[in-house]
Amino acid sequence: MTVKMAVPNKGRLNERAVELLAKAGIDLGEDWGRRLRVCAEDQGLEIMLVRAQDIPAFISSGAIDIGITGEDMVAESGYNLRKMLDLEFGHCRLSVAAQESSGIGSVDDVPNGARIATSFPNLTEKFFASKGKKVEVIEISGAAEIMPYLGVSDLICDLVATGSTLKTNRLVEIGKIIDSQAAVFTSDRALASKKAEIADIVDSIGSVMAAEGRKYLMADIPKDRLSEVQRMLPGIGGPTVLNIAGNDSVVAVHAVVDSKDVYRTVNDLKKIGAKGILTLSIDRLVE
Ligand code: AMP
Repeated sequence: MTVKMAVPNKGRLNERAVELLAKAGIDLGEDWGRRLRVCAEDQGLEIMLVRAQDIPAFISSGAIDIGITGEDMVAESGYNLRKMLDLEFGHCRLSVAAQESSGIGSVDDVPNGARIATSFPNLTEKFFASKGKKVEVIEISGAAEIMPYLGVSDLICDLVATGSTLKTNRLVEIGKIIDSQAAVFTSDRALASKKAEIADIVDSIGSVMAAEGRKYLMADIPKDRLSEVQRMLPGIGGPTVLNIAGNDSVVAVHAVVDSKDVYRTVNDLKKIGAKGILTLSIDRLVE
């Protein structure tokens, strides 16, 4: 059964989303950048390249089965989608910000009637209503930071990643509405008919993410130091130990190691007489 998958066609989420799919073996081909639809026939997949903010509605309506988009987009859309996997990129938060000179330091200080420019009108309305504030939400499609200077609004509600854009524009964050990152979403409707196919896609992307933080380590170890090596290299269910033909005193040890531990592990192995130490990148890791 063919699964229809949506991927952001541009913007902050595009590059990494396409990279994850390629590493998972879902090949979009050479010239995907100019196409809106790519068939990955071997995998029974049709990939649509569309705007990240349109993806929640497409999934909800059933036009698309599964998609990569930001949690902020899904929250703003209000659709009840199923999140299958956090993708650990596109981290940001939707925050309310005021001009440094305004004297407003928290959401409690925001006066009733304040005008707030945002491209997230639903989340902004809900947030201020939950705080018991009556504010005027002004919907814009981008560049929220400039709106207070234009006199269009008193405050803004926008995505913040590092905070440097707010700082450059002399704005201060006074409250956070939600945290967001890129994730894989689907719907109950798609899960009802294509559960196994969707699980395969999610698992393959997950296996790429699991592999990225790990290395495959190989080393030749004196056999009498093996118990120390087993403590050093827990691996996935312990290291693989292989005999070396014609050499009874040395064994080859293979293990998957967290990338952050590689430096220490290689040094520890050298100290117990390991030779021929190799570390290799892993494409995918299915545990
Ligand atoms: P920063 O200066 O790093 O805080 O980034 C703020 C600017 O980048 C704002 O204009 C945001 O709208 C935009 N932005 C930050 N993070 C994201 C994201 N994950 N997705 C889309 N836009 C973002």
